[in-house]
Amino acid sequence: MLSGKVALITGSTSGIGLATAHVLAEKGIDLVLHGLMTDIEGQALAAEFSERYQIQTLFDNADLRDGDTIDEFMSRALNKMGSIDILINNAGIQHTEGVASFPVAKWNDIIAINLSSAFHTIKKFLPGMREKRWGRIINIASVHGLVASLNKSAYCAAKHGIVGLTKVVALECAEQGITANAICPGWVDTPLINNQISDIATQNQTSFDEAKYQLVKAKQPLPEMLDPRQIGELVLFLCSDAARGITGSSIPMDGAWTAQ
Ligand code: NAD
Repeated sequence: MLSGKVALITGSTSGIGLATAHVLAEKGIDLVLHGLMTDIEGQALAAEFSERYQIQTLFDNADLRDGDTIDEFMSRALNKMGSIDILINNAGIQHTEGVASFPVAKWNDIIAINLSSAFHTIKKFLPGMREKRWGRIINIASVHGLVASLNKSAYCAAKHGIVGLTKVVALECAEQGITANAICPGWVDTPLINNQISDIATQNQTSFDEAKYQLVKAKQPLPEMLDPRQIGELVLFLCSDAARGITGSSIPMDGAWTAQ
């Protein structure tokens, strides 16, 4: 059922996005891969996916901080792939600092990449999904879309925002065969959190691996980082026909973090 559909995954050159790309490609889903790497690296990645999974691919390295750049990227994707059936808003960045000294530029970048880019992509691809009366919109939020942590003002604001955006889109599309959901992961083993682990290692004079464990245990009862592929498998389920009744949901995959 999903083979031949087209998915666009923002931030799919690394971490959760890349792992999700593999999970979807294994099912024969054509892919628009995207992220901050050079054209040469990106074309090589796309060629690797095409050859390995026998699917159509496209790569783009549009910077998601700018609305016009996003619009041009999405027009290229529509022109080349015909339609986008599955939209996964995944790209994100992090910066941790108390709100009083939080750099304005970082605030603006986090809101632009982690929240506003999803508004732009959804706005652009909804008409095509409505025409086909089928679509899946999956926003990779975070436990920080549901609860707060110290020093994450911009990240929590963006993630709470994307949870709200997801709910509104679900309401607006409920009778059109389109679902919109947010996934709210706890700690996932990706480069995004390396700075936070390094900071703990320095503060506590400990190894990177010990600091990683300390970071997880501070908030998440399940004492291990999630594998990015686990998020990809949930994305795949949300794309399935069996999941057509799940919409407007914010689904924690967080090792009981928000159960406390
Ligand atoms: P990652 O750093 O491995 O990947 C981030 C991706 O976003 C990369 O492909 C990168 O190129 C892209 N990106 C960053 N800035 C960009 C920009 N300006 N323009 C375009 N693309 C840009 O991170 P990840 O951990 O895989 O994170 C993916 C998503 O999952 C993020 O939204 C993150 O907030 C969320 N998340 C991560 C965790 C975690 O513990 N790793 C937990 C909860 C939620």
